[in-house]
Amino acid sequence: MRFRARDLAVHAATSDRIAAAVAKLPPAREIAASYVAGRTLDQAVATATDAVDKGLEVSLHPLAREAETPQMAEQATVQLLETTAALGADPELAPHAEVSIALSTLGIGLAEDGPQVALANAQRICREARNAGVLVTVADERPETHDQVLDAVRSLLADFPDTGVVVQAARHDSLDQIRELSAAGRRIRLCKGDYTGPREEMVVSPHDVDLRMAACLRTLLQGPATALIATHDPVFIAIAERLIADLNRGPHNVEFQMLQGIRPFEQRRLADIGHKVRVYLPWGSDWYSYCTRRIIERPANLLLFSRSLVVRR
Ligand code: FAD
Repeated sequence: MRFRARDLAVHAATSDRIAAAVAKLPPAREIAASYVAGRTLDQAVATATDAVDKGLEVSLHPLAREAETPQMAEQATVQLLETTAALGADPELAPHAEVSIALSTLGIGLAEDGPQVALANAQRICREARNAGVLVTVADERPETHDQVLDAVRSLLADFPDTGVVVQAARHDSLDQIRELSAAGRRIRLCKGDYTGPREEMVVSPHDVDLRMAACLRTLLQGPATALIATHDPVFIAIAERLIADLNRGPHNVEFQMLQGIRPFEQRRLADIGHKVRVYLPWGSDWYSYCTRRIIERPANLLLFSRSLVVRR
């Protein structure tokens, strides 16, 4: 039963025809509202302002598809520039704000000069962000583009040393990356990792991913970089809390990061006891595939999602 529900959800996530139909249903929109900060930039900024008023930091991520043409890459870049400018326009919001960027949307996969196009677009966003007083973090998306993304991040770091870089614990080279990238003023976002890849690149079993995550967490927190701990897992949150206390790390150089709609009470608890907590706020009209990915991640969400396909209210 669980397997069939998952198949349905995977199919629904990847079919444009189903997406167009389901995205119009009120229950699907309701689910989206818990994971997504809004369909428009104004709505996303309002959600961000509300979060900041409640003592949280924010990371805005405009949802866009992988760029298949230079025009799509330009469109995604403009969307990010507008997001950054909107955050920078509010002096109460900017110091607490970050934009998360995905180089696939900025053109890294384009047949002609993809990596150069994506890097040039990312540099434009970093310049705008610096002027706006807003931070930038670059996502690590897929094994196929990992090396290119890392090269682009190294280039960005030369001019924008506080650009956030993502390390996926599940990669075999995760510890090496933390050691290489860790330096004062740098920002490293550690997460378990969202993709499964070839065995030569990725740790496969969840237990091994957890062991790797624990080792990465310790190495990151022992190093000089600002540690961005992106997990909802209670075990790693508890380990991080202990290490932060033992290593005497303060909220100025450590933060917890979680996705909008996931473990909101834990986000609140951590903020209330003095930790910096950044909530990741995806926004945009292309919310459907993002939401189905979040739903697929968690079997308990599948029943809710399957019902949303058939129940109208
Ligand atoms: P899990 O073991 O997956 O989850 C722990 C607990 O969290 C679960 O038991 C459950 O209670 C809750 N939970 C987790 N997911 C859900 C859900 N969908 N619905 C409801 N409850 C849930 N991955 C990348 O590959 N590249 C990136 O650039 C990247 N950036 C990220 C940025 C941020 C800010 C965050 C928070 C995550 C990012 N990820 C990225 C995703 C990350 O790699 C994990 O896939 C994701 O965070 C789930 O792992 P976890 O550590 O929360 O542990």
